Amino acid sequence: MDYRGIFEDAVDALRVEKRYRVFADLERVAGHFPHAVYRDGADNARDITIWCSNDYLGMGQHPKVIGAMQEAAGKLGAGAGGTRNISGTNRPLVELERSLADLHHKEAALVFTSGFVSNEASISTIARLIPNCLILSDQLNHASMIQGVRQSGMEKKIFRHNDLKHLRELLEAAGKQRPKLIVFESVYSMDGDIAPIAEICDLADEFNAMTYIDEVHAVGIYGPRGGGICERDGLMDRIDVIEGTLAKGFGVMGGYITANKAIVDAVRSYAPEFIFTTALPPALCAAARTSIEHLKVSSVEREGQQRQAARVKRVLAEAGLPVLPTETHIVPLIVGDARLCKAASDMLMDRHNIYIQPINYPTVPKGTERLRITPTPYHTDDMIAELCDALIAVWRQLDLPRDFDMSRLMEGKLIVGDLTLPTVGG
Ligand SMILES: *Cc1c(COP(=O)(O)O)cnc(C)c1O
Repeated sequence: MDYRGIFEDAVDALRVEKRYRVFADLERVAGHFPHAVYRDGADNARDITIWCSNDYLGMGQHPKVIGAMQEAAGKLGAGAGGTRNISGTNRPLVELERSLADLHHKEAALVFTSGFVSNEASISTIARLIPNCLILSDQLNHASMIQGVRQSGMEKKIFRHNDLKHLRELLEAAGKQRPKLIVFESVYSMDGDIAPIAEICDLADEFNAMTYIDEVHAVGIYGPRGGGICERDGLMDRIDVIEGTLAKGFGVMGGYITANKAIVDAVRSYAPEFIFTTALPPALCAAARTSIEHLKVSSVEREGQQRQAARVKRVLAEAGLPVLPTETHIVPLIVGDARLCKAASDMLMDRHNIYIQPINYPTVPKGTERLRITPTPYHTDDMIAELCDALIAVWRQLDLPRDFDMSRLMEGKLIVGDLTLPTVGG
C-alpha cells in the first residue's frame, strides 16, 4: 500500500485546480506594522508591506497590549496549566469574560481557544440542546459555522445570502411552533457586505426563532465601544448569541460567545470543544482584555481605519481598477481567475514588495477570485499611492480585466452555498 502516494495525489489534485496554498514566511516588526520581513523560498529576507492582515486595527502591536502580555507572563507564567475545569481558569481569563459580557451588554460570556472553535462548539451544542431544532443558515456563512451546523446533527435549511424573502419562506414552511435557530454573520468577510440584522430579528420575533450572529469581522471595529454592527445599530439586545474573535480587530487570539446566563452555562457544561481542552494562557487573556478595554474608549483606531479604507477604495476606483463596492473596511479587487490571481499576488510581492494573498475557491466562488485588501490605520497615504501604482503595473503586465460582471458574482454565490458547501475557508 502506497500511503505516501495517497497524500501526494490528494495535494496534486489541489495543484491542478490552482488551489494549492503557499504560505508567506513573515516576521512582523512590532512598532512598524504594516511592515514585515518576508523570506522567500531561498530564505532571502526583505522588507515588505502587508495589505491583507486581519489585525485590522494594528492592536497586535499596540504598546499597551504587548505590555499587558509581558506583564502577565512575568507574573503568572506562560501557560494556564489545565482545562477550565481542572485548574486552568486563571484570573485574567475570568476578567476577560467579564469585559466581553460588558462589551455586548449580555449577562455572561464564554471564551474559547479560537473563533473557529467558538462557532463550532456553540452552534452545535445550542442546536443539539433544543429538541427538534431546525437551523436556518445563511449560504455564505463561514466554514466554522457550517461545521457547527453539521456537527449538531440537526436538520438545516440554507437561505440565500441576505435574502429575507427566502428566509421568510423557510420560516413559514417550518411553522411558528417548531424550535428554530437562525445563524448568520454581520459583516461577510469576502464581499464586505452587511446582513439586514434588524429585519432578520423581526422575522425571528414573528416566527419564534432564536438568533446567533458571528460578529468576527466587526468587533473592535464598529460601534462606539467596538461592540460590532449590532452595537452600532442598537441591536445587541435583539440577538440571543453574539459570537466574536479576539484575533482580528482585537489583535490577539481566542474566540467567544456572549449571551444570557442560561445559554452560556449550557454551552460551558455540554460543549466538548470547550471542556476537554486547555484554557487560554493568562498572558493572552490579559492582552486581549487590554485591547478590548482600550477600544471601548478609543475611537482613533476605528476612525483611522475607516478613513484609510475609504481612501483606498476611492484611489483604486479612480485608477480604473475593479474594486467591489463595499460598505465596510474590506476592499475586494476582483480578478476572476485562480491562476491570474496567484500570478498578480506573486508579481506584487516579487517586484513591488507588497503582500496581498490571493483568495481563491473554495473561500470564494469560482470566477470571483480576488485580492482582498484590508487597509488599517497604519497604512499611510504614501503607502496607498504606492499600492495603486503597483496594482496598475500588475494589471497592465498581466492584462487583467478592469471590470467584472456583478451577475457572475451572484451566480457564483449560489454555487458555493447550495451545491458545494466549502469545508475549508480562510
Ligand atoms: C476568521 C473567522 C472565524 C474564526 O475566527 P478565529 O479566531 O480566526 O478562529 C470565524 N468566523 C468568521 C466569519 C471568520 O472570518
